[in-house]
Amino acid sequence: MDKQRLKVAIQKSGRLTDHSLDLLTRCGLKYSRGKDQLLCFGENMPLDVLLMRDDDIPDLVREDVCDLGIVGRNVLEEKRLSLVAQGLPSQFIELQALDYGRCRLVIAVPEDRPYQSPTDLNGLRIATTYPHILKKWLADHAVNASVVVLSGAVEIAPRLGRAEAICDLVATGGTLSANRLREVSTVFESEAVLIQTPVPLSPDKLAWLNRIRLRIDGVQQVKESKYIMLHAPRSALADIRRLLPGSESPTIIPLEGHPERVAIHAVCRENVFWETLESLKAAGASAVLVLPVEKMLA
Ligand code: ATP
Ligand code: ZN
Repeated sequence: MDKQRLKVAIQKSGRLTDHSLDLLTRCGLKYSRGKDQLLCFGENMPLDVLLMRDDDIPDLVREDVCDLGIVGRNVLEEKRLSLVAQGLPSQFIELQALDYGRCRLVIAVPEDRPYQSPTDLNGLRIATTYPHILKKWLADHAVNASVVVLSGAVEIAPRLGRAEAICDLVATGGTLSANRLREVSTVFESEAVLIQTPVPLSPDKLAWLNRIRLRIDGVQQVKESKYIMLHAPRSALADIRRLLPGSESPTIIPLEGHPERVAIHAVCRENVFWETLESLKAAGASAVLVLPVEKMLA
């Protein structure tokens, strides 16, 4: 493989895959997929995407097989703690959070088990695929429980009699209630993060990484942003500006033939809800248009 091309590892197939490819596409990457389906070749940037199991991504980056990786902070933290336990340094640089893949690692108990505080977990068996994060939390809370390490299907462990509680990832909690489990405590909060190899990048690679990071910032900013245009009486300007969510300095344009009315154009950095439009109209606005923002560069 070409040494001058950035290599970024992302999850091959799973919850982070579509979001990660979508993020890279929004950053301008056009790619073709290799025959083996493991590599996406960047056609318009010196950047290739390796498709991997998420658990392998921290090591690929730590060992400098890949320059960059996108992985859940939960996987990264578990890896970091396991390296610490082996007396090894955790050699990856966490560059930035990516605002997707949000989830929580939580403790859950069967619905009918009483729970007031972490000490109620004393003496129990807790099933998890995240033993290091869980052990740290138990130690921090002075709980003496045993950790049952499973490789998956943690949520059925209590029904199978393998544990009295579980520590598992949830986003909405639907899986927990489907298994008659109750969330009692949050152990770790996670989202997808971008990580970098500890080995310094060549100047060319670093320049591209910096460009991509600026584009990621731009992608994150436009996500909620809207461009809003409306007409309003000059007298209502102050009220209307207050109503525009997250807009700094709107453009005010005179309207030919209507000295008492102006057009206002503004970028709103927060979601514009129907309620906002209704309030704007009540304040005297008309001809309100809300447009999505495609790209933004600060
Ligand atoms: P792989 O085959 O790559 O090992 P996996 O089964 O370990 O896949 P997924 O279930 O696809 O992984 O989850 C990938 C990541 O998505 C998780 O590590 C976590 O960071 C994030 N995530 C977001 N929401 C959830 C959720 N509701 N449950 C589990 N993980 C979630
Ligand atoms: Zn995995």
